Amino acid sequence: MKAEIIAVGTELLMGQVVNTNATFLSEQLADLGIEVYYHTVVGDNPKRLEELLQLADTRSDLIILGGGLGPTDDDLTKNVLADHVGVPLVQDAEGYAHMMTFFKNRQHPMTPNNLRQVETLKDGIPLQNRTGLAIGCLYKGKKNNYILLPGPPSELRPMFLEQAKPLLQKEFPTQEVLTSRVLRFYGIGESLLVTELAEMIKNQSNPTIAPYAKPNEVTLRITANTMDDTSATVLLDQAEAEIMAKVGEYFYGYGDTNSLEEVTVDLLKQHHLTVTAAESLTAGEFQATLGQIPGVSEVFPGGFVTYSKATKAAFLDIDPALLDTYGVVSQECAQAMAEHALAKAGTDFAVSFTGVAGPDELEGKIPGTVYIALARKGKETIVTENHFSRDRSYVRHSAVMKGLDLIRR
Ligand code: ATP
Ligand code: MG
Repeated sequence: MKAEIIAVGTELLMGQVVNTNATFLSEQLADLGIEVYYHTVVGDNPKRLEELLQLADTRSDLIILGGGLGPTDDDLTKNVLADHVGVPLVQDAEGYAHMMTFFKNRQHPMTPNNLRQVETLKDGIPLQNRTGLAIGCLYKGKKNNYILLPGPPSELRPMFLEQAKPLLQKEFPTQEVLTSRVLRFYGIGESLLVTELAEMIKNQSNPTIAPYAKPNEVTLRITANTMDDTSATVLLDQAEAEIMAKVGEYFYGYGDTNSLEEVTVDLLKQHHLTVTAAESLTAGEFQATLGQIPGVSEVFPGGFVTYSKATKAAFLDIDPALLDTYGVVSQECAQAMAEHALAKAGTDFAVSFTGVAGPDELEGKIPGTVYIALARKGKETIVTENHFSRDRSYVRHSAVMKGLDLIRR
């Protein structure tokens, strides 16, 4: 079954409202094994909406319309659809009763145009609105099927989840399910990753492979289209093994939400290890990143922000002579910061950051030059020299990610 999502509303076209309904509905339909081929947005204009419906009829089996079910004159979606399929609008008894209770309890005056919200297409299946007033509808036409939903996400989402979704499962049982797995990579750019996997991506059909670049990382979504979960797992495992053979060294975790910091903190927890940090150019960003993770105190007792030479000496007892000799943008400074932080905090690891965030040079080093050291209890300290690109905030973010990656490895 091919589906299409039409969002109705001039506010969407003007850029005042982001079309989050389409994102939500697409995810939900994928869950049902229904493929979405088009997202369109049309203003509150009956002629253009009718033109779009005519086009949609030619290319989609299921057409989902969101928005424009309100009481005002610009809310026309229901009338346009009724005209389009050639049925009248009729009042829905359940929706009407709900509306009467609503106005009785609110002691708000009800206006005649409110009644338009409880009208539905004759012979359609009404969808009640638990969180609002305008009812929706599933209408099975001769060739195409239509679902009407209210615009506000707080109404559209529960109506879809509680009513439209079960109805779709019942009316149009699909045999195929789309199952996705997300792989996350650090330390490899999108273009290099795609080059490494070029052959696989070129020949993909089932599962499909979709790369997506985020700041400082790349995710790959692999999606299998199968009849059941077991064969999906087989296909996804196969594809994953092939991907890992090529770029496995950059892989760090699964899922849409497991960030590098979460994976790192989880690893520390598993091994009962602790970490501290001494931050110069990142000025606490590394520690703030850790702080976003609930329960991080188990592995992170605290750390140091030492922006100037004076605080490096005062907080970390670093010999000012060392800083004068080598400068703060140096391997030596990074190493001393990490080792002194380790000794002071008594942790298993200490990571340090010192460098030039930009836009100006420092000590003759160009922006993006960052030394990151990892001191380890009972082991030799690792010191890395990095050359990050782009602007100040990107350099700092890159440094934080690199620090996390050093600990993880
Ligand atoms: P109402 O009864 O509130 O008028 P409605 O069904 O007529 O509801 P619209 O008037 O189209 O819906 O939209 C109401 C509000 O819902 C919009 O101002 C916007 O904030 C939100 N909204 C509408 N469409 C979308 C969308 N596609 N994605 C996210 N939010 C939306
Ligand atoms: Mg409206």
